[in-house]
Parts: sequence; structure tokens; C-alpha cells
Amino acid sequence: MASAESPSSNAKQSSRNVQHVILGTLRFQTWYQSIYPEDLVSKDTDTLYVCRWCFRYACDVNTHAGHIKVCQHRTAPPGTKLYDQGGYSVWEVDGANHKLFGQNLSLFAKLFLDHKSVFFDVVSFLYYILVFADPNDPDGSYHILGFFSKEKLSWDANNLACILVFPPYQHKQLGKLLMGVSYKISGWERDPSLIGGPERPLSEMGGRSYGRFWEERMARYLVSLQASNANANSTGEPEDVKTQKSTSTKASARKKHPHELMTVQEIGLATGMLTEDVITSLRGLGVFEPATPSKTRKKPHAGSGSGSGESEAIVIRRSKVLEWAKTRNVNLRDPVRGDSFCLSPLEVRTMESPGSDDDD
Ligand SMILES: [Zn+2]
Repeated sequence: MASAESPSSNAKQSSRNVQHVILGTLRFQTWYQSIYPEDLVSKDTDTLYVCRWCFRYACDVNTHAGHIKVCQHRTAPPGTKLYDQGGYSVWEVDGANHKLFGQNLSLFAKLFLDHKSVFFDVVSFLYYILVFADPNDPDGSYHILGFFSKEKLSWDANNLACILVFPPYQHKQLGKLLMGVSYKISGWERDPSLIGGPERPLSEMGGRSYGRFWEERMARYLVSLQASNANANSTGEPEDVKTQKSTSTKASARKKHPHELMTVQEIGLATGMLTEDVITSLRGLGVFEPATPSKTRKKPHAGSGSGSGESEAIVIRRSKVLEWAKTRNVNLRDPVRGDSFCLSPLEVRTMESPGSDDDD
């Protein structure tokens, strides 16, 4: 699993085959070795020119200049637009229909990913590219800022295989947007048995990125759930989590005590997060507080009780969650807006694949 953020400088490799890339008009350093064919990209390439629309590469500036005049993707990205919000959009690209695009994107991404291997079986993958189109750009063109990939058939219900925000666009919360979209389009909303997460193991950087994302997702859910219980007419619930009105939450809403009793399993079903990720994020928020025996008597029906702790009741205190957000200066606004999806998650999954338009 890759990270949406840069590694520390001492993690960067010195034995890279490509030292710098030029993507559109941006020149920046690479971090790791990629596996470009040696007959096309020599082992000591200083600068590789990469098309910002299709990731086709060239060591020669004239070859590159010739390509970008005729690039078939210069006016619109490949694939189908799923999400569009404020100039940022996410497009689904089927690797089976756009093999060359998938391969060239993977080769480029490998320059910034510390993977042992990058998947070149592009046919088995979907690519979700993050696009920015500046409405004030006189060219009317667009930039691809990053992407995540997803296996079409994942036995572990992984909702993401690999994620990368390209270096010039990092530290703008764009990784969180991509992670949020990956949960939104996972199968969990229509089938809770499809709850998943990113492919494991996570890299150190990936673990940090996801840790922050999960904590904020959890905080958003807990705060809005309790706010909605405090006001039965509230519409402030997050858009991408299921509302679970368990007997315990109803009970606590009736009472003056500002806390919830929920099980880890219930929270996982509501947020689409795996049990282990729920526990990690509750601990990160500092709100993982097992209920005392007197409180657990009010515990709701809690599944089969696998003994893993997921049916254990947890006391959730809104004040602690809000305190966590305040001390860390965390904005609990969801980076993904449900009403900005062009297709519903179900439509996304049942969508007909468009025909291939790779030109070779
Ligand atoms: Zn191109």
C-alpha cells in the first residue's frame, strides 16, 4: 500500500534510474526507481518528459513536444466522471479499456512509490484519477493531481490498492478526498458484508495518512450522530455513513447524560470501516472507553459475539471528540460531498464499460 504523502528525505533512494520528471510545465525530483523499459529510458536519465494527460514518456524534449500537440486526452480525461466538486473531479478509468494509460500511469507512479512491485496487470484494475480543471484557464484544459487504484475483484473487499497524490499537489488534503471517495464507492452501502479498507500491509506513511483519515471520519460520525440525537429533526448527519438508531443511542438520547453506548461492530457497520480500523481510530481520538458493567446492561443486541471485542459496548462522549478536534485544529467538514457524485455508487458499480480508445 502506498501513501498519499511524501517520505522523509532519508527514505529517498539514491539509485534511481530517473532523477527528475517534467509533468506539463512542472519539474520535480523523483523518489524511487521505476521500471521503464531500458531501451527507452536509460538507467542514468536526468530528466524524463511525461505527458500530463496520458503519462506517455520521452527522454527527448522534441518527441515530447510533438506528442502533446496530438495527445488524444488533451481535452478530456479517459473514462467516466463520477464526482465533480468545485473544479475537482474524479474519473473512473477501466484498465481493460485503457491499457496504455494504465501502464504509463503505473510507471510514472512507481517513481514516487516504495513498492516492491507495482501492478502491471492493468486489466484487473480500475483507476480513479483526481482531476482539476481551472475555470479561468484560457486553454480550458485540466491537470491530473493523483489517483488511487482498486482491484476489480478483491477477495478481501479492499476498497483501494494503491494511492498517490503527485508531489507538486501534496499537503492540500487531496489524499483525504481520494480516500473518502474510495469508501463512498465501496460495496458497503449496499452490502455490509463488503466492508473493507485499503490493501494491507500499509506502509509507514500509508499508516499515518490513513490514521488521520480514519480519526477524522470517526470524529465526524460520532459528533453528527450525537448532534442528531440531541435534535431529532437534525439533518446534520454525515452523508456517507449509515444512521444506526440502536436501542442504546435512543436510550441515551432520552437521558441527560451526554454519551452514547455503541459496539465497535455497530460503528463499523455505520461507517463502512473494519473492526480493527474502528478500534484504531477510537483509540486515536482517545474515546475508546469500554462500558462499565452497569452501563453494559443497557447494551443492545450485539451480534454473535465472536470474542474479538467487536460486540463490546463502548462509551462515546461527544465532549471528548469535540475536544480532540479543537486541540488539533481539525475541521470536521467531510472532504467528500455526497451530492457531488454524478452517478450513485450503485450506478458506478453497474455502469457499462466504455469502449477502448487507446490509440495503440
Ligand atoms: Zn498524452
